[in-house]
Amino acid sequence: MTYEWMREHAPEPFSAVCVHCGQKSSGAVVVGHVDRPSGPPVTLYACPDDAVRYDAGPSPFDMIL
Ligand SMILES: [Zn+2]
Repeated sequence: MTYEWMREHAPEPFSAVCVHCGQKSSGAVVVGHVDRPSGPPVTLYACPDDAVRYDAGPSPFDMIL
């Protein structure tokens, strides 16, 4: 494994589509979840500009100590 190989096969950084504006953002934050009766819950993300529109708070991904 070479440095060049690792650069070519590096994973894409995390990004998600904003639930408000629909833009893909690497700084998206979790703003909610939608429970589904026949599957895992869907996580809703918002870009940093639109995150303040939602009551962003702790999510199931956050660990409360
Ligand atoms: Zn947005």
